[in-house]
Amino acid sequence: DDRVSRISSTIRVIPDFPKPGILFQDITTLLLDPKAFKDTIDLFVERYRDKNINVVAGIEARGFIFGPPIALAIGAKFVPMRKPKKLPGEVISEEYSLEYGTDTMEMHVGAVQPGERAVVVDDLIATGGTLNAAIRLLERVGVQVVECACVIELPELKGRDRLGNKPLFVLVSST
Ligand code: 5GP
Repeated sequence: DDRVSRISSTIRVIPDFPKPGILFQDITTLLLDPKAFKDTIDLFVERYRDKNINVVAGIEARGFIFGPPIALAIGAKFVPMRKPKKLPGEVISEEYSLEYGTDTMEMHVGAVQPGERAVVVDDLIATGGTLNAAIRLLERVGVQVVECACVIELPELKGRDRLGNKPLFVLVSST
């Protein structure tokens, strides 16, 4: 698909951000190219329409950029998976490990119902810890996670292996 090579070419790589030694994949430059941004959304929509998806769960912060247009196009609800203490209502939360320490992801109680079918959306999978936490959170309340979807995968970090048997769909692999 020649849309993928265009998308890939719009992603800017910034060395030593946020720390020395990290090659940061910057998707804000993808957002500046309306065709690449639209193609990105279209590729996900083509994959998930007609699959009876009820829920697009977007991970803070960049899952909030790609998730909502996908949700609107496929007729699913959008559910934000947020950092702690951001959501005003009652939440359920899931802890997950980072390189140093832990973080927590939260979702509103009542946002999803048992038996609903979800796709989890984020911009990038590195170690897979973030998506793993989102899957656990959704499965705890009886949601069926059909697939995870990211714009970028860093395959060397083997994040896929942390998703158990969940399929992962990505547009760009970055080495
Ligand atoms: P993981 O939990 O898979 O190790 O890390 C993935 C999370 O970290 C995602 O929420 C993603 O937004 C963020 N992240 C880690 N590295 C990068 C990067 O190079 N670029 C961007 N845009 N996000 C990153």
